[in-house]
Amino acid sequence: MDHRILLSLKILFLVSVLVMATFAGCTAEEQTVGELQALVSEREPDQPSLLPDWNDGEYHDYDATTHMLTIFNDNFPDLVDVFSIGKSIQGRDIWCVRITNEKNNQAKLSCLIDGCIHGNEWEAGDACLYLADYLLINFGNNATVTHILNISKVYIIPLVNPDGRQQNTRWNADNIDLNRNFDVDFGRLRGHSIRIGKLFGWIKIPYIYIPKVGTLTNCGRRPFSEPEAQAVRDVMKTINYHDFSFYVNCHTAIHNIATPWSAFKPPSELTQQEINVHDSVKNWVDENTEYESTPLTYHPSGTVTDWCFKEFRVPSFTLELLSQDYEPGMGEGKHDHLVHWMNTTLPIFLYLLVNIENLHDWQLPTIQPCLPEGVPPPPLH
Ligand SMILES: [Zn+2]
Repeated sequence: MDHRILLSLKILFLVSVLVMATFAGCTAEEQTVGELQALVSEREPDQPSLLPDWNDGEYHDYDATTHMLTIFNDNFPDLVDVFSIGKSIQGRDIWCVRITNEKNNQAKLSCLIDGCIHGNEWEAGDACLYLADYLLINFGNNATVTHILNISKVYIIPLVNPDGRQQNTRWNADNIDLNRNFDVDFGRLRGHSIRIGKLFGWIKIPYIYIPKVGTLTNCGRRPFSEPEAQAVRDVMKTINYHDFSFYVNCHTAIHNIATPWSAFKPPSELTQQEINVHDSVKNWVDENTEYESTPLTYHPSGTVTDWCFKEFRVPSFTLELLSQDYEPGMGEGKHDHLVHWMNTTLPIFLYLLVNIENLHDWQLPTIQPCLPEGVPPPPLH
């Protein structure tokens, strides 16, 4: 073939490829815009959402929590699955509730929110129950909640430490601090932990105070020595098969949100993307709620949040409810204004839930949640 004809054919081919690529690019862009518009309009007609009918002072102990989960299961059979993930030292079931639109069989993302790993931190468990109640009563009426339960499975463990809740103590029935019993930088004295476990198999010492060192809580003799920590570990491994996307571990009462690492000697570095996503959530909490994101002043070892991040590399948060001013010290026990703290905390859960796809992909969580009227309430002070 003549060289000029060949060259002309090559040029013609290149030009047509370029034209097709440009046209395809436009189409793709139009589709993306169209999809975005569909997404926006899907979320736009948000109906005013209901708030759970709770009263101040109506805290939920183990029996009341079990009762409430049973009611959820009975009233919302197509949304709720309640199951035990293990038994506490004293034989109580550790309940987990999975909330999702069970009629929608599409692939979904999963997340885990738990509370009351420290048994005396009442609002931490009740915030989990309140979230469950909120999602259930608004599904089908409120576009945001309906969207959340169509695309995700929300796993909630209201009482990680049911024995501690019943005895109103921080520790489990072995007097072990469960939030020091996970396998990450375990048992470090500088992490305020001491590995005494049960002395001679039966003497139970919750903590030791050493002048100039401070209070060292009993983390158990070895990681996962306690059945409650084993139960959380195992359910996380199960959830991880279902597109685990983020984790929140609730406490009282430092009044902030924290992200890995807490440990004195972290097992690895965070990537810049992981730092950016964690920082983005903390900034949102700073700007949109009365909670803060100041880092902890100490480095607890063996925490569940650090372990979750180490093991599954999902965005992981420690959320401390209540105000330090409100209850100086540990924030243990019951307080006034339960409903205030539930509604102060709810926006953080909703923000994370509407961003579950971004969090799953370690993309910045830029979607703003539609919040119910009066949520969050103005600060008490
Ligand atoms: Zn705590």
